[in-house]
Amino acid sequence: MKEIVLAKYGEMVLKGLNKQTFENMLVKNVKRRLKSLGNFRLVSTQSTLYITPEDDGTNLEEVVERVGKIFGIATLCRACVCEKDFSDITEKSIEYLKDILSEVKTFKVNAKRADKTFPMKSPEICAELGGILLSRFDNLSVDVKNPEITVTVEIRDTNAYVHGENIKGAGGLPVGSSGNAMLMLSGGIDSPVAGYMMAKRGVRITAVHYVSPPYTSDRARLKVEQLCEKMTDYCGGIAFYCVPFTEIQEAIKDNCPEVYFTVIMRRLMMEIAQRIAENDNCQALITGESVGQVASQTMQAITCTDAVCRMPVFRPLVGMDKTEIIEIARKIDTFDISTLPYEDCCTVFTPRHPKVRPLLADVEKAQNAFDFELLIKKAVENTEMKTFNYQG
Ligand code: ATP
Ligand code: MG
Repeated sequence: MKEIVLAKYGEMVLKGLNKQTFENMLVKNVKRRLKSLGNFRLVSTQSTLYITPEDDGTNLEEVVERVGKIFGIATLCRACVCEKDFSDITEKSIEYLKDILSEVKTFKVNAKRADKTFPMKSPEICAELGGILLSRFDNLSVDVKNPEITVTVEIRDTNAYVHGENIKGAGGLPVGSSGNAMLMLSGGIDSPVAGYMMAKRGVRITAVHYVSPPYTSDRARLKVEQLCEKMTDYCGGIAFYCVPFTEIQEAIKDNCPEVYFTVIMRRLMMEIAQRIAENDNCQALITGESVGQVASQTMQAITCTDAVCRMPVFRPLVGMDKTEIIEIARKIDTFDISTLPYEDCCTVFTPRHPKVRPLLADVEKAQNAFDFELLIKKAVENTEMKTFNYQG
């Protein structure tokens, strides 16, 4: 029996004139994601992408697994390809769905007739096929309101397709359809989740990470690279910038009051991130901050950090609890990497008593004790870039 995968579009079906742009982007993303699994014919019609394998023995389970992580797709399923002939549809439905139909108690048939030249109308297909399945499987009865399984028959231009339940897709909008943003990626739990959430809204992610050797180790950097690689499952390719931050942190320590170390460090991180962002066509910054989580994430501290920003800063976790964030981190499989025990530059020279509610004027005064411009330029110049691509 020949099988294909049907992927139904999510929110982008609501788009007006530029819907085509979204579709094209999604098809491109799917193509890239499936490349290493063989050749496929991709046809986009009526808010559905028909993914037909062109080789024998294609691993459809893996196709579903990969497509299930592509943003822009609301639901997906495997479907059996039939002739546009009612007896073939009946035979194949029984054969294709026999395991599940023998297990459940209630079902209904749902028919969609895109090809209006097909001689039976949708209600007729439902009634006829429903009747046949009822007589074939003793365990079944019809429940149109709340069936355990819905058998769907779609009559389209070249073929008919039969399938059971849909699986939930990744939702959101195709990556790339909402522009590019620079994710400040630490090795922690929060920032990879923040990147995932913005990618879900169609944003292509570029990552920036600050290292302070010898205070932070190579292993800490490798851990962040590992996170980047993992994130490509959902985000697609990610350009990764690694910024040497030691001299700046030492300059803060030597020249600024200890209570302001963290907030000044964060302002300098933001400044560097946006300079790299401006050079790499990114229109916004993303952080994993959540209000009240730590001293640098109070409203007053965020006010001080944002004061240096010339572009919007997205904080998709802003209203989330740690437990909710962890739940997503587990889902996207970054949690185990994030909880590896290596140090982050944020933990270098942490003040014993940071100002929890800093005032912007005081922070600016404290920061002005030293001219960081040369060090900022040097850090940007010595930043290393590396690209992580989806590893199929
Ligand atoms: P996370 O779990 O993402 O590390 P956190 O709760 O530990 O966040 P902070 O350490 O205060 O919070 O960092 C807040 C945000 O600043 C992070 O979510 C991340 O976006 C950014 N950030 C922190 N450290 C770094 C770093 N070394 N490189 C890049 N960005 C960083
Ligand atoms: Mg952290």
